[in-house]
Amino acid sequence: MLIDFAGQVVIVSGGGRGIGRGLVERFHAENATVVALDLDFAEPIDGVRTIRCDVTDTGSVNDAIAAVEQEFGRIDVLVNNAGINVEGAVESLDPERWRACFDVNVFGVFALSRAVIPAMKRAGRGRIINAASFAAIIPSVGAAAYGASKAAVVQFTRVLASELGPWNITVNAYAPGMIPTAMNGFADMAVDRQERLLDTLSLRRWERPEDVADLVCFLASDYAGYITGALVDVSGGKFAT
Ligand code: NAD
Repeated sequence: MLIDFAGQVVIVSGGGRGIGRGLVERFHAENATVVALDLDFAEPIDGVRTIRCDVTDTGSVNDAIAAVEQEFGRIDVLVNNAGINVEGAVESLDPERWRACFDVNVFGVFALSRAVIPAMKRAGRGRIINAASFAAIIPSVGAAAYGASKAAVVQFTRVLASELGPWNITVNAYAPGMIPTAMNGFADMAVDRQERLLDTLSLRRWERPEDVADLVCFLASDYAGYITGALVDVSGGKFAT
């Protein structure tokens, strides 16, 4: 058995940049028909169908999924990667930013998952894979909104796994550690802070989108057919330090 997604349709939300872009490129390289959803696409992605979609908007989500079904006739894998980072101590956090965080990170995962379920049930197989974070488990100052939203994703994953198991649809979440992307403001971070953060990783190297893609492709593949409701650590040892 090899990991090969020929004939399969894989949807990646937030696929325009960062980790999502890495996932899109990897699934494309593994022969999947890939659909990237995002608010906008700075540049086209060769060989990939791109659809503008705001995961916080039910109509936008349903239209995007209907377009995929009409064009390709099936949905095999959904990766709920789109997410935003909202930082700030609770006392001073703007309530609208809290809401925005939950809108993208939690509602978005719900709305897209809900929309793909009928196609996966008809097929008698499916994979829903959700981006959580080590922040769902490990508390840090200023991460109440983000951490709580990712903890919600973990429990959503477990419940949905129970609901969809009888249809041979697996639902899993993964917890990356720290990937230098636009999201975590790495480019503007002081070098000594970067070094302190690096010391919290057992492997002592920054994570790459490819590290996440290795795991997500595994979870999407037949090798992971008996894994469901899991939160899989792909943090380079963030939980171990
Ligand atoms: P990123 O900011 O580089 O990319 C996120 C993508 O999601 C962007 O393309 C953005 O346009 C899209 N997006 C945001 N709001 C959207 C919406 N309403 N509708 C559709 N798309 C929307 O972030 P990233 O670092 O690549 O993170 C990807 C995922 O991985 C997120 O869920 C994040 O929480 C998670 N994660 C990231 C890290 C990290 O260190 N970067 C660590 C743990 C978990």
